[in-house]
Formats: sequence, structure tokens, C-alpha cells
Amino acid sequence: MNEIVAGIDVGGTNTLLGLVDEQGKIHADETIITTDYPEVTDFIKALAVSINKMLDAHENMTLIGIGIGAPNANFYKGTIELAANLTWKGLIPFADMVRKEIDVPVLMTNDANAAAMGEMIFGGARGMKNFIVLTLGTGLGSGIVINGQMLYGHTGFAGELGHSVIVPEGRDCGCGRKGCLETYASATGLVRTVLYLLSEKRGNSILRDIVPGELTSKMVAEAAANNDLLALEAMDYTADKLASGIVNALAFSSPEAVFLFGGLANAGDMLLEPVRKYVDMKVLPVFKNTFRIELSSIPENNAAILGASALVWNERSL
Ligand SMILES: [Zn+2]
Repeated sequence: MNEIVAGIDVGGTNTLLGLVDEQGKIHADETIITTDYPEVTDFIKALAVSINKMLDAHENMTLIGIGIGAPNANFYKGTIELAANLTWKGLIPFADMVRKEIDVPVLMTNDANAAAMGEMIFGGARGMKNFIVLTLGTGLGSGIVINGQMLYGHTGFAGELGHSVIVPEGRDCGCGRKGCLETYASATGLVRTVLYLLSEKRGNSILRDIVPGELTSKMVAEAAANNDLLALEAMDYTADKLASGIVNALAFSSPEAVFLFGGLANAGDMLLEPVRKYVDMKVLPVFKNTFRIELSSIPENNAAILGASALVWNERSL
């Protein structure tokens, strides 16, 4: 019998799930529309049906565990707590509820930690004991591995680099405070920077032709790749702020590598090169040339399922 893990990525709109083997091969996958289930109990029943359906089609495989990435998931308690972008409110004993449907070990953590776990087991961080993954999507998430272990902290919610303050009294953040890293260094932050530059600066830019509400970080990256000066300035500003966050993180945990992942990271070298430049300028001398900054090597469309399954595979490899 071949051992297999179910990896589940619970999202506000869609939930992705798949069967992943020890080499990171996805043998089956399914999508569930999260918003179709106003009651979490119905959602978990639907998850179980999907997992069993996938297993029925793979009779030579034995399920050894379920790994789940979800917003505000607590690794210690297996709960989802006060997740703003999920319809289920309050404190949900999610892992226990899943275990009642399918009796195997269930591990869960938040999306960014799952991405870091995926990088450690299947990606560029294989063999590393100290690294950080920054997920640059709507917000900025971080998964921090120190001495070979994911950093969960006292509460289980450690690793909120996106809400470290980079600019005192800076931009308003969704957390209710000001100047957090994610208000600058995220797909949303980049768009905010472009809108600001468009209103403050003259000069031609292809971005002026786009309705402000429809502007995306992808459009900005494409404009920058076409040498649009305003787009380039916005990328440079974003990279500068991201570098400030990274050098603080370097001082905190001295990682071997920092991996950038998610929407904004798709800008590739347009982002990576200025980030490396500013990090080199700002880094504490003792850490100079001791680390790498790379793009994640995990394909984005598989990353969530792989990362969630890696929670279980990591326990097996200990
Ligand atoms: Zn914040």
C-alpha cells in the first residue's frame, strides 16, 4: 500500500484539496466552493465526501493524515479563530470536527506557515534549518523556520511580519494600526503606491489609462517590464519597503534564505533585483552575504495543497 496525505487549503471563496504522496506528486484534486456552506458542519461533511471520493478512485493508497492550511488556523489547538474572510464566526474546533468524519491525524496551520512547510519539504528550502517564506498576496504573510522548526510562538500565531510597522504613522492597515509592512509590500500595497504616484506625478504612464478600481499588481509588473517609468518607480518603492521588513527579519532569526511567494512575487526579477539591492544597502553588517533572497520554487497553482500536506509529511520525517 502506498501512503498518501490529503492536503486541504481552506480559502474564503474556494477550498482546494488533493492527495499528495511523499515526493510531492498530486494524485487527485478537487475544489469545493467554500461560500456554498454557511454552516461549518456541512462544509466538513462535504470535505469528507470529497476525500473519500478521491480515495475510492485510488484503492492502492492508504490515507495516513490530513494537513490543512486555513486563515487564522492555530497549529496547537487545531482551531480556526476569528477569521475575517470566512463566513464561520468565532472559535471553530476544525481539526476535531474533521477527525470525527475521517479518523486519521489532522494537522492545521495558517496559509503562510503551510507555504513555508511546502518549501521545506518539497521546494527550495529542502535541507535548510533556518529560512523565511514571505507570501505577497492581498496581504503579506510569513512562515518562519528556526533551527528546523516552524515558529508558532506562545499563542500559535507567531510570524506576523506583515504587521510589523515599517513607517511610523504610515498607511492605514486593516489591523487598525498604521504603517504595517503589508500596506506597502503586497499586491494591494503596490496598487496603493501606483494610485498615489498617479495622483502626485505628471508624465505619461500606460497605467493612467486604467480605471483605478481595475488596476492590479500584475498590470503594474507588466508596465514595469515595458519600462514604464511610473510603474518602475512604484516597484522600486515597494522593494525598498519590503527590504526594510526583510532586514529586520534577518536581524531577528538569521535565516539562510528568504523566499518570496504569491501574486506580487510573480513580478520576478522586476521585484527581486531591487529588493536584493536595498537589502544589501540596509542589512546589519554582521549578516552581509550570509543569506539568499529567492523566488519560491513551488508552482503557485499547487502550492497550497502541497504546503498543507507537508504538515503531515514533516511529522513523518522527524
Ligand atoms: Zn497591520
